[in-house]
Amino acid sequence: MGLKDIARLTDLFVEGTEVVLQDDPTEPMLLWANKLNSFEAEEARRDGQAARSRVVLALKEIGSAESDTFEAALTSFTAEQLVQELLGAKNSERFIDAIDSVQRDKDWAERLSIVQRRGDAITAEEAALIAKIDDEYAAEVDERIANARSQEERDLARFGLEELQEKYREAWRNQRGMAAFTREYNKTRLYFSIRVCSAKRSPSGGWDHGHCGGHRKRVLDDRDEVVSLPEGLLDLLLRVSQDVNVDRREARFLAGTPSSSASSAPPSEAVESTASTPEETSPELATTSS
Ligand SMILES: [Zn+2]
Repeated sequence: MGLKDIARLTDLFVEGTEVVLQDDPTEPMLLWANKLNSFEAEEARRDGQAARSRVVLALKEIGSAESDTFEAALTSFTAEQLVQELLGAKNSERFIDAIDSVQRDKDWAERLSIVQRRGDAITAEEAALIAKIDDEYAAEVDERIANARSQEERDLARFGLEELQEKYREAWRNQRGMAAFTREYNKTRLYFSIRVCSAKRSPSGGWDHGHCGGHRKRVLDDRDEVVSLPEGLLDLLLRVSQDVNVDRREARFLAGTPSSSASSAPPSEAVESTASTPEETSPELATTSS
């Protein structure tokens, strides 16, 4: 069986969800957000990584007006402020590492598999067990995050001002790179994900996708069309396509992620804080479920 055949088979089992733009009984308007298959996810990731490398290298080798502003602000940070900013810049990464480490932990494997293999018909006791495991999982992740942060803080305390400045400069470049990653990754993701949907209201409630042809037809002709979508629609599609592509457990934690460092360092407005979701700083997370 060739790659193409496997891709076709994969497509058959790809899930997705409808996006209702206009819930009109006679003339409903819908789109379909398809879950990316592994080839599409890989391509989106490659597009993102290429953009990230370009941006980071250009900032390092050439600089920009933005990096001049950054350099000017950098001189007003104290060492302690730099440590706090550096810790803040790693919030998302630390969060993802904590989830990874719990999921790789043998002691957790059995408990997590109970949650992941939950069926629809579960007893009240099973539901209570699952809720308990969910809570313990969240507490465990929080504890690992706190431990990692303290360790990082101790490590950073050993550096002098200039070394901290250089570390922060590097973190800032990476952050700009991640923003570029997210832009390009999202473009490719939506290009693949958004499909034509002609569902009608089903008499039994819900939507009848019987005439959608398996949602194989893409709405966008190329990646660059993504940027010309109206902002509200773009936000909606990004949100839905994220939900489709990230599994339930991760989604729960995505929602609860601290969005940035809570540091009050004065010039921090010159240095944008960390991205608002781990997905934006981690190319890996968004695709772990595909
Ligand atoms: Zn449909």
